[in-house]
Amino acid sequence: MPLVPISHGRGAWLFDADGNRYLDGISSWWVNLFGHANPRINAALKDQLDKLEHVMLAGFTHEPVIRLSEQLSEKTGHALGHCFFASDGASAVEIALKMSFHSWSNLGLGDKREFVCLKGSYHGETIGALAVTDVALFRDAYGPLIGSAHVVMSPDARQAIDGETAQDVARRAIAEVEKLFEQRSTKIAAMIVEPLVQCATGFAMHDPLYLQLLRALCDKYQVHLIADEIAVGCGRTGTFFACEQAAIWPDFMCLSKGISGGYLPLSLVMTTDKVYQAFYHQDVKRGFLHSHSYTGNPLACRAALATLEIFEQDNVLENNVERAAKITAALAPLALHAKVKNFRQRGMIWAFDAVDVSAGFSSRFFKAALTQELLLRPIGNTVYLMPPYILNDEECALLGQRTLSVFEQVAAA
Ligand SMILES: *Cc1c(COP(=O)(O)O)cnc(C)c1O
Repeated sequence: MPLVPISHGRGAWLFDADGNRYLDGISSWWVNLFGHANPRINAALKDQLDKLEHVMLAGFTHEPVIRLSEQLSEKTGHALGHCFFASDGASAVEIALKMSFHSWSNLGLGDKREFVCLKGSYHGETIGALAVTDVALFRDAYGPLIGSAHVVMSPDARQAIDGETAQDVARRAIAEVEKLFEQRSTKIAAMIVEPLVQCATGFAMHDPLYLQLLRALCDKYQVHLIADEIAVGCGRTGTFFACEQAAIWPDFMCLSKGISGGYLPLSLVMTTDKVYQAFYHQDVKRGFLHSHSYTGNPLACRAALATLEIFEQDNVLENNVERAAKITAALAPLALHAKVKNFRQRGMIWAFDAVDVSAGFSSRFFKAALTQELLLRPIGNTVYLMPPYILNDEECALLGQRTLSVFEQVAAA
């Protein structure tokens, strides 16, 4: 299929060079929160452009990075009061892994150098991040280069058997973690999870109880908990951070994707004062060693500040509850469709699994959706929607109707 040349975007819509439009039902791979060419984010960037485009963050600082760090810290009630900046999600994951190992090492626990991840986990595709990514397609070609991690059962609620609830599945998954920690916690630095929804593996959702039990186990066995909120953060699951729904804070939280409103590459790792103190020393080798040329880029930070301001000004989390209810209602016929299994939703994420469909479902769906003015890109047989937080009533209804009509066309083929 030829590439679609996009000429411009406005709100939830993308326009190609021939004048066709597409509703961005997946927020351009989960990054766009408030639409394309958003006037408020554009204005903030234009203002910043005339002040300071970039400055190195070593020995220097600037207002956008300070304000962003303070506002994010505030959102965690200062539990995660320190921010370390990078540019992309995979680098944030690398930083969290390195920082966990190094902080244990500074405390005389250098044996703690192993990591634990969930089955089907996705945490990015640089060589370090691939070590905690359990997706064969992305790993196999580079297998000899990649480190290993302990892979434990996912708490994916679809695995419920014999009348189990999602919480029962969470307890079953936790038992496996405890067994591993009992045997190896002196060697384990951290466990990394995507809280509430494992997105890239096909939107596997779990009960918040899993995160509560995991936090308790990590405390008991002295293992860091890394929450990768790169996809699920920034309001995607209904709360600003997914972890809030379990009323826990991790030792490290990775943010990227939506944090800049989908405008510019920006990522960061938030951590606790305890971890920060483990590095605070005159000896540079005890200091955390990691830098990127564009660390804390002022334009990206300004885009992030404008994004956070929209959350406040527009009461976004509250309004998304209503918006989500409308989209769920518009998708109701799909939830009941004979070829749909596991229709699920959390916050501004919807997913369902297509059953009894012929091969190539995902690419056929993608193409059919484009002919009906929708940008949707299933993962395998899982169709998901992750729209920006700005759809009006008409767009919510259109998204539901067209998704159903595309599905019926593709599932019948
Ligand atoms: C996208 C994603 C990453 C990687 O971010 P990049 O910016 O693409 O490197 C890591 N973890 C999760 C959960 C993601 O969804």
